[in-house]
Amino acid sequence: GKSRSCSVVNLSTIPDRDLNECNIAMLGCRGSGKSALTVKFLTKRFISEYDPNLEDTYTSEEIVDQQPVLLKVMDTADQDGPVNCERYLNWANAFIVVYSIENRRSFEACRLYLDTVSIHTKGVQQEYPVILLGNKLDMERYRQVSKSDGLSLASKYGCLFYEVSACLDFDSVQRVFHEAAREVRRE
Ligand code: GDP
Ligand code: MG
Repeated sequence: GKSRSCSVVNLSTIPDRDLNECNIAMLGCRGSGKSALTVKFLTKRFISEYDPNLEDTYTSEEIVDQQPVLLKVMDTADQDGPVNCERYLNWANAFIVVYSIENRRSFEACRLYLDTVSIHTKGVQQEYPVILLGNKLDMERYRQVSKSDGLSLASKYGCLFYEVSACLDFDSVQRVFHEAAREVRRE
């Protein structure tokens, strides 16, 4: 007849789960693509229409460099510029400041967010990784912000810099979020 197998789990062989946590706040002006990037990272899909007023926090268990990390992403939805910043400043341990490469105004708005974060980090005397992220790389032909402008702003604030597109490959978007987690682990 059929035999049933029964496995005994030896609890001592289950590795201790390193409960690494990383809280990432997505900052930047409306329309830069924060929600599209967040959704892309979480679902591998590009959602073109996302409620601009919806602010939410999402959780994903990720493996970064063979280590588990509980990655939380707060997709903020400021109306115009940084307001009520405490909600994310007191929560996040990493920041991704997003602009659109085809919108100069969205790039200028990044300074406000970068200043807000740097004033906060000086106040609490702790370093938090910050990534400046140029989005909408697929709109290259409408580019209003050069890569070197992005790089020089990033170096002025001592942050990492990437350019991606929420509607192109998933890997490049994932890399940015994982880099934030990696930097938090290093701190
Ligand atoms: P948020 O206000 O920063 O959350 O911006 P959304 O994620 O809602 O995106 C604003 C608009 O830009 C939407 O119409 C998106 O479809 C569009 N969008 C977002 N990311 C990209 C991108 O990488 N490329 C292009 N072409 N459009 C994008
Ligand atoms: Mg949004």
